[in-house]
Amino acid sequence: MTIPDIIIAIDGYSSTGKSSFAKLIASEFSFLYLDSGAMYRAVTLAALEQGVITQDQSIDEPRLKTVLEKLDAHFEYTVLGSQTFMGDRCVEQEIRSMKVSSWVSPVSALPFVRNWVDERLHQFAANGRVVMDGRDIGTTVFPNAELKLFMTASDRVRAQRRYQELSAKGSTATLEEVLENLKERDYMDSHREASPLQRAADAIVLDNSDMTMREELAWVKGVIQGKFGILE
Ligand code: C5P
Repeated sequence: MTIPDIIIAIDGYSSTGKSSFAKLIASEFSFLYLDSGAMYRAVTLAALEQGVITQDQSIDEPRLKTVLEKLDAHFEYTVLGSQTFMGDRCVEQEIRSMKVSSWVSPVSALPFVRNWVDERLHQFAANGRVVMDGRDIGTTVFPNAELKLFMTASDRVRAQRRYQELSAKGSTATLEEVLENLKERDYMDSHREASPLQRAADAIVLDNSDMTMREELAWVKGVIQGKFGILE
């Protein structure tokens, strides 16, 4: 199935499978996949590594601004798919740690961080034919995206998925800790002032609690055909 050169924006709660779904769409339709959360995670990793988080557990904003001036966070496309880099260092694993997960929401709530990330997302997506996932893609980053999806799933399913992912990578975090982190992030992401997580009025909701990836793909094909017609 061939589809036009559009931008597909996928937003939703933490661990609803947005990235996996976006990757699947990218490979099915030969689109570029961009993981906006990875950019926020890279900024957070750099902040943690460069002493931006102070002893009293707050963020030194002037220092973070200096870090951003020199930060080269970008994606490289390898046999493993899209990988996040800081300079020539692959940080794909490190940005998924619980430490980064516990700081990423306060860091990404800062408007100057959002502007820094948004600027890069626009550059990366300059050639169109992009599927991007995040929290504010359909509302702020690409408000004119031709297709907007908003993903959700039950807490139980989300926590279990993330827990399995982390355990497979050797993390010792418990299911309760993972669930707590998801809820905290969702709360902070939905209640911040700058570009909060919310469904765009024209986004189509997908609750994938009881769906397989194959069913999700069939669903999105149906949505695309309904919206753009059968192109091939
Ligand atoms: O998608 P992922 O869970 O990796 O995103 C990590 C965090 O980055 C989110 O919890 C949120 O705080 C932030 N984020 C954001 N806006 C986006 C994407 C991610 O604020 N578009």
